[in-house]
Amino acid sequence: MAACDEDLLLCNIGRCRARLGGCAWVTSCSHIFCDEDGSREFHKAMKCPACGTILAGKFDIIRIDISPTEEYKAMVLAGLRPDVIMEICSRALAFWTYQIHQERLYQDYMLGKAQNRISHIEKHFEQQLETRTTEVSALKREVGNLRRELEQSRRRCGEVTERLMDRNRQQQKLQAQFDSLRRRTSTLNPRRDRGQGSPRAHCYLGNFDHPFGSTERLLRPFSPIPYSSHQVPADNQDFVLNPVVPGCPSNHAQNINHFFPKF
Ligand SMILES: [Zn+2]
Ligand SMILES: [Zn+2]
Repeated sequence: MAACDEDLLLCNIGRCRARLGGCAWVTSCSHIFCDEDGSREFHKAMKCPACGTILAGKFDIIRIDISPTEEYKAMVLAGLRPDVIMEICSRALAFWTYQIHQERLYQDYMLGKAQNRISHIEKHFEQQLETRTTEVSALKREVGNLRRELEQSRRRCGEVTERLMDRNRQQQKLQAQFDSLRRRTSTLNPRRDRGQGSPRAHCYLGNFDHPFGSTERLLRPFSPIPYSSHQVPADNQDFVLNPVVPGCPSNHAQNINHFFPKF
């Protein structure tokens, strides 16, 4: 009857653990090795490679066939008394039971190591998860703050745009007033247009070239200033009105002083 794989013992060399078949090496200290490992180890020394027991006896190490032939089975215990046969069978079963028990202890040991490793890995990844969760929360808060800052910036941008539009409207209004006033001035005193090239006229128009200045400056009425004939330059004998020139640039003021010296 062929044995199933689960009933086969494993080589007791830790790095081998091959499922035994064919020939194997059995020791009196209840260890068993595959044919390759047993031949190599017992060629070097008569010492158990699993537990270190010295195996100097004649039957301390034997080489067996895991799947003996029917002829061997028929003859190996033949002629022995029943009690001897039972003792031999009992010791063989004890060996097999010990191997199975050792394998169970080994599997329990490996299971414990695997569980410890799994526990360690789970703890590691739980810490990683907690760290990442904290980072994600911090990033979400930062995104929220940045969105609020963006909303505030958009609101400020809208306010600035609105103010700019107001200023543009004011500029257009002032420009319209300026154009209207210039046309009215030209209509009332056409001789002034002929004096555009003189420093006096240049200073006069210079005030209106800055619409963002004070509107009072633009809308302030002209006031005639009395003058005597000896104060008027020879090339401006036809000058009649002396407009107020607040904020006139200094070079223009010098021109004014030149043409209108103080008493
Ligand atoms: Zn082996
Ligand atoms: Zn041993």
